[in-house]
Amino acid sequence: MRLSLVVPCFNEEDSVERLHAAVTAACAELSDVEVEIVYVDDGSQDGTLAALRRLAAADPTVGYTSLSRNFGKEAAMLAGLERATGDAVVIMDADLQHPPRLLPEMVALYRQGFDQVIARRDRRGDRFLRTVASRSFYRLVNWWIDVRLLDGAGDFRLLSRLAVDAVLAMPEYNRFSKGLFSWIGFRTVVVAHRNESRQSGRSRWTLGKLFNYAFDGLLSFNNRPLRLAIYGGLFLTLLAVVYMAWVVEDALSRGIDVPGYTTTIISVIGLGGIQMTILGVIGEYIGRIYYESKRRPHYLVQETEALLTRTDGAPR
Ligand code: UDP
Ligand code: MG
Repeated sequence: MRLSLVVPCFNEEDSVERLHAAVTAACAELSDVEVEIVYVDDGSQDGTLAALRRLAAADPTVGYTSLSRNFGKEAAMLAGLERATGDAVVIMDADLQHPPRLLPEMVALYRQGFDQVIARRDRRGDRFLRTVASRSFYRLVNWWIDVRLLDGAGDFRLLSRLAVDAVLAMPEYNRFSKGLFSWIGFRTVVVAHRNESRQSGRSRWTLGKLFNYAFDGLLSFNNRPLRLAIYGGLFLTLLAVVYMAWVVEDALSRGIDVPGYTTTIISVIGLGGIQMTILGVIGEYIGRIYYESKRRPHYLVQETEALLTRTDGAPR
């Protein structure tokens, strides 16, 4: 069989060579598996590209693609998946948080017939606040959206050709991979592993980015927020009708009662707030339609070094 590794790298000059050594060591255990490694340089500002060039020159199983700027990990992964030619593809981070020693086990499970082998980490050593935030996110999102997301299951996973082609068949611009991987389904199995902390450099996730990511997850997979807006609107309308009846009845039986400042101001502010929120929700969806409708490419390639081992002979 042929195994492709897809590694998105953004400013990982300190990590790529170490990762490459670890991956090569892990793959040595895999007999009768032909391995190719597809590195994607996501517009790094440091020496990542130079390191990748060196690796590709030294090792015929390495290919790399360098994007014209930083397009984000989702785009980098997509670029890698599109270039991977293997019967199975493993996506892994460059920072050694995805331990290559799991590769033999993942391949063994693939050979047992699984199409998705998810490597799931525990949260040992994570910062408390982040753990709590993540836990609440998964609870919220699983209650909210139609696909199941697993806490600790990130992008480190093996996908069979069937699963890769399914992911690539989804052309959406706004890619929420965790959801896409879960959405495609197929025979799935989970492998647990210990949490590894980042070896060098730093994570690009700030709390703000995580928050936006969570928001994306909530909005990306259904139109329930819009539904909620409708129900909220109906509920308020009902409330207004009841209140109106009460006010009218009051006015008819006891004459017009002038004071009403508090009620007025509360309803103006309250309704204004609700309307702006709902407008924001609608705006989010329209924004998505706007981005999708532009049909722009997900990424642009600056430089690419095709694999020497490619079998199909097609230009990449
Ligand atoms: N990455 C990328 N483009 C980006 C941000 C990150 O290709 O814009 C890569 C990064 O090089 C690493 C992986 O995605 O290989 C995960 O990034 P990071 O370690 O920052 O995320 P975390 O592990 O904290 O979720
Ligand atoms: Mg990381």
